[in-house]
This record gives sequence, C-alpha cells and structure tokens, in this order.
Amino acid sequence: MYQRHKIYPIQQILDIIEYKYAGCYSNKKKYIELDGVKVKITSARYGVFKNSIKCVCCGLEGSFFASEKSLYDNTDKYHFNLYGVKNNGDEVLFTKDHIIPVSKGGSNNFENFQTMCSECNNEKSNNIDNNIHDMINRYKNNINDIKKESNELNNRLKNHYLSVNNKLEKIYKLLKQYANKNDETAINILKQLNKYKGK
Ligand SMILES: [Zn+2]
Repeated sequence: MYQRHKIYPIQQILDIIEYKYAGCYSNKKKYIELDGVKVKITSARYGVFKNSIKCVCCGLEGSFFASEKSLYDNTDKYHFNLYGVKNNGDEVLFTKDHIIPVSKGGSNNFENFQTMCSECNNEKSNNIDNNIHDMINRYKNNINDIKKESNELNNRLKNHYLSVNNKLEKIYKLLKQYANKNDETAINILKQLNKYKGK
C-alpha cells in the first residue's frame, strides 16, 4: 500500500528518470525535489518503463506516474510508480517483471526485464506456483511407481527363492534316500546341499 503525493503526466516523468543497473549498490541513488518532496529518479525499474509503458501480457498502457512511498516507510523519500487505468476505472500498478524468474536462474540484467501490470504479474507467479506443484506431484507419482515396482520385484524374488529352496529340499531327500553310499558325486552334492541349508 502506498501513500500518494501527486500524479504526473507520463512524458514529464520519463524525461526525469534514469535507468540504474539493478545490482549496482555503489552508485548513490539520486533524488530530486519535486512539489515539496524528495523523489528518487534512478532505478532499474525506471529503465524498464523508459523502454515501454505497456504491459507485455494484457497490453494495458500506463496512464500516469505518481510520486508515492510505502505506508510503512517513515522516511521522507518518495519514488515514482507507474499506473494504468482499466476500462472500469480501476488503477493498476505497473511492475518490472523478470522474464525468467530469479528462482529459475534468471538474471538481474536489463535484458531479463519487461514491463508488466501487477494483475498479469500476479497471474504469472500463480502459474509458476502451479507449475511447481505439478512438477512435485509428478515426482511423487514417479516415486510411488518406483516403490510399487520394487515391492513387486522383491515379492517375485522371494517366491523364486522359495521355489528353488523347495526343489533343492526335494533333491536332498531323494539323494539321501536312494543314492549309493559309495557314490562320491552324490555324497559331494549332499555336502554342498548341507552347506546351502545351513545358510
Ligand atoms: Zn497486464
């Protein structure tokens, strides 16, 4: 929420404001005295508005600048906000939008900025939130599928192991019952089977 001092025609303010590289904190912000208040005239946002005052999404154009400061700002420093007016008369604040969001690796360079009204900007960030939720859900589903498959594999292995064990048990019994006591091969197999059963 902003506290408004005064509104101005677009061109008057475009002639005053200057672009300032977003990441450059060493340059002191510049202010001018305008109608009794100090107003900031340098920012990255201003550069974006100097480039275009039209929302890239809905095409709404800025209609005026206003010198404003946050309701919670106790300093005497104002800045310019750009506003468009919708057909129903509602004012819409304009913003500097990151074409590729910073959260997705987008830069703070001028090339990554565009003019967007706050309504479209809110919609864009909601869409990004939804995309992230979709992605998380897809991952969750994938993980569930993998868990299911690994459980199935585990069960198949267990069953396989049990059936092999049963077969070996049968062979062991048959050998014990029928093998010739002097048959070395049979005795060796029995020894091996005993070892295997011990495990
Ligand atoms: Zn818009």
